[in-house]
Amino acid sequence: SVERSPEFEGFARIFGVETEYGVSVTGASRPVDAGQVAMTMFRPIVSRSRSTNTYLANGSRLYLDVGSHPEYATAEARRPIDALAQDMAGELVMRRLAAQAQQQLRDSGYGDGLRVHVFKNNADSAGHSFGCHENYLVRRYVSLEQVEHELLPFLITRQLYTGAGRVTDEGFEITQRADYLDEAVSSATTRSRPMVNTRDEPHADPEEFRRLHVIIGDSNRSQWATRIKLAVTHLVLCAIEEAARLGRPSGCEAFALADPGEANRAVSRDLTCRTAKLRLADGRELTAIEIQRGYLRIVERFMADHRTLEGESDVDTSDMERTVDEWRQVLELLESGQGERLADRIDWAAKLRLFEALHARKGGMIAQSKLTQLDMDYHDIASGTVYDALLRRGMMIRLLNDDDAQRALTEPPVDTRAALRGRFVSAALDAGAQFACDWTRLTLTSPEHREAVMLDPFDADPSEDYERLMAAL
Ligand code: ATP
Ligand code: MG
Ligand code: MG
Repeated sequence: SVERSPEFEGFARIFGVETEYGVSVTGASRPVDAGQVAMTMFRPIVSRSRSTNTYLANGSRLYLDVGSHPEYATAEARRPIDALAQDMAGELVMRRLAAQAQQQLRDSGYGDGLRVHVFKNNADSAGHSFGCHENYLVRRYVSLEQVEHELLPFLITRQLYTGAGRVTDEGFEITQRADYLDEAVSSATTRSRPMVNTRDEPHADPEEFRRLHVIIGDSNRSQWATRIKLAVTHLVLCAIEEAARLGRPSGCEAFALADPGEANRAVSRDLTCRTAKLRLADGRELTAIEIQRGYLRIVERFMADHRTLEGESDVDTSDMERTVDEWRQVLELLESGQGERLADRIDWAAKLRLFEALHARKGGMIAQSKLTQLDMDYHDIASGTVYDALLRRGMMIRLLNDDDAQRALTEPPVDTRAALRGRFVSAALDAGAQFACDWTRLTLTSPEHREAVMLDPFDADPSEDYERLMAAL
């Protein structure tokens, strides 16, 4: 029998971000492919944990499925800013593995010109698409139908400020994945499935919670974008959850789309953000900004309902008010055609600024291949220079610095079960013990067999089983 999590009441959230990276290699003096590079990256992991699937001392998961897309899934966080720190630590992990693999390949006779590239994006030149999934713990009384009708229009239109931008054969698009998701949508029977995965793996008490598994987002380099996509989505979920709990409509159902795939593609292709009209299920046509404004109003009402006369709130408001202000400001700037003023925080706008600077320098036509190269460099966390230069020159908003990211390499969030996992992994590594983890379970396989189950993601207090497990190390 499991005790009910105290967080079942209220609006606490668990956030997790999974990022699949793309790997490629240039400058090799004899043939080597991305799969080999990825395997070389994971050699230190395999020699340590006898597997390409492992958990790290910061509570996160690092793994390599078949193919050449290493993945890092952040430890459970209660706050978007903590999830951002964990995600930045993931970039550092990948960067280190890439540097080590590059050296090893050079040493093995592939030439000193060999470079390993690791892309934090969602599409490679061969047309493969890979993901950045957001995970949100949601109370079980929110139905999957509500997710489809009430959340999906928000997820599609938020790409105005969370899209990472992509150079395609036809030009430039706001998002990385609209084309791929569209394809999946047309061949699937449940329309929402490809954009939100409905597989039921809550990694928590299934009586209480779902893990909402959002597939539709892009990988972001912008720290601001990573944080705000989690923070704003959280607030929309709060409004949907509250309405579901009270058995009344949230207001979000008004934005149900006639064709989510078509809407997604339209948002992605409309660089003005103001022209494309999206067809709603009730026959109306609204722009993406109008739909976002509708969600903003619902969230503002929700926040106001929870503010006491003293200005306090029972919603965990650690910078949630700021989130709403920033969200509103972004919509105002996009609405008044001043998107270029958002080039310091929105990835697609940052890329357009780079392209314009290139035009200004070179004049005339810039070859498509040059734009593609710049686009890819922006996402290359191993060998790229463009994004780091923007950061160095203060041209991208920074919420956390390099020290924060370094710290998040070894320090899990302190107020979720990730803290317990992280401490266990550190101790097991120090002791040279054999161990295994998943999100809800820690297992010591040698020197002796012990196990601790952590069903409640909010609970950072050690159980008796956990103490016994640690005592065996
Ligand atoms: P796979 O990639 O193998 O298909 P998956 O996508 O289901 O698996 P993982 O890649 O293991 O899942 O990542 C799970 C993510 O969910 C992590 O970022 C983790 O922090 C987060 N998470 C874990 N438990 C919960 C929970 N109860 N609610 C929300 N998020 C959770
Ligand atoms: Mg995953
Ligand atoms: Mg996933």
